[in-house]
Amino acid sequence: MNRPQHFETRAVHSGEHRASAEEGSDGTFYPISTPIYASTTFSHPNVETTDRVLGGEEQGYSYARYDNPTVRAFEEALASLEAPESGAEIRTFAFASGMAATHAALAAAELTNEATVLAAEQLYGSTATLLVQVFGANGVETRFVDAYDLGAVEKKVARLGPRAVVVESISNPLLRVADIPAISEITRAAGAALIVDNTFGTPLLQRPLDLGADIVVHSATKYLSGHGDLTAGVVVAGPPYSDAVEQLRKLVGGVLGPFEAWLAHRGLKTLPLRMGRQCENARTIADHLAAHPKIRQVNHPSLEVHPDHTTAGRVLSDTGGLVSFELAAEGRGAAFAFLDSLKLCVKAPSLGDIYTLAIHPATSSHRELSPSRRERLGVGENLVRLSVGIEHPEDIISDLEQALDRL
Ligand code: PLP
Repeated sequence: MNRPQHFETRAVHSGEHRASAEEGSDGTFYPISTPIYASTTFSHPNVETTDRVLGGEEQGYSYARYDNPTVRAFEEALASLEAPESGAEIRTFAFASGMAATHAALAAAELTNEATVLAAEQLYGSTATLLVQVFGANGVETRFVDAYDLGAVEKKVARLGPRAVVVESISNPLLRVADIPAISEITRAAGAALIVDNTFGTPLLQRPLDLGADIVVHSATKYLSGHGDLTAGVVVAGPPYSDAVEQLRKLVGGVLGPFEAWLAHRGLKTLPLRMGRQCENARTIADHLAAHPKIRQVNHPSLEVHPDHTTAGRVLSDTGGLVSFELAAEGRGAAFAFLDSLKLCVKAPSLGDIYTLAIHPATSSHRELSPSRRERLGVGENLVRLSVGIEHPEDIISDLEQALDRL
């Protein structure tokens, strides 16, 4: 069979190693879903085969920290969704969390003693802390830049000569959209690796490798698995980074377990359906809230007033499932009262689930920052973030309405 062309088709079938009709005709049964291989070790008919598998001369499995068929099935499925149009070789590696994946991606970019990394100011807080505390302790200097000011990125790359630049395809919580093609031109010219955290975008909205990125990371805890029931991460890269990531994962051992890999693979099959609905719902909600007298400002790239509305049209195939908004009422008290009045939307951190989730960024994702730094990043006390789910949009809107009515 030719490789199925469409994203939706690949999401459903890729990674599954189903038997062909001829193989199945002897009456043996074949699972249509890759089973959970709960085995730490894999034996072979003879030791010579084991030797070849361990030496990488023959495809196979030997030890679960190196590779496992259930984990491989998930990785192959994701590789088919992230594959660049150019046909360039890429590999996908599943990790036990998004942070473990991010750590491996950064280490694979040779962030060693005396290297500098240029990171977006708007990065997920734990990624920034990982850079400053863990890589910092090993002599890596982290400098920050407003990733949405291309002039500033260009200047800092020229001045600092970073080994890597780290950005997110869509930022939290203001949903700024990075101009990856423009940033990758700058990093290419300077010989720096461009690492893109595409957790908020997913390969449905953007494949950063097609836009010039070198390494892509995801928290698969979010949209890729999509049901709020597992923690996982992924690195996608071609050589030489892919070899380094494989070696790091073997040695550090942050590999994804087979149970989570199975769940993540099952979730991935419906990514286009879920994400399509989440984007549509988010647009409807953003439009509705933008016209509401108790809302001061809505942040969503679908809105013409959003600073990256035009960039989003160029670099994303849709505008994403997150919406944030500032209440007209000032202060933390108003935001807490609004959140506590929600009945359907779930008050919980994380994002990308089938349920609509609501948070107060100033006391959750951006809690560790000083009030002045939060202010500078536009994360005010009256800001609320929604990760829009797949419910009927009218039910989400009526929940938001009744909570706004109480303010
Ligand atoms: N990257 C982004 C953009 C995130 O939002 C998160 C978690 O919220 C992570 C990475 C870390 O992922 P995990 O919690 O799976 O380690």
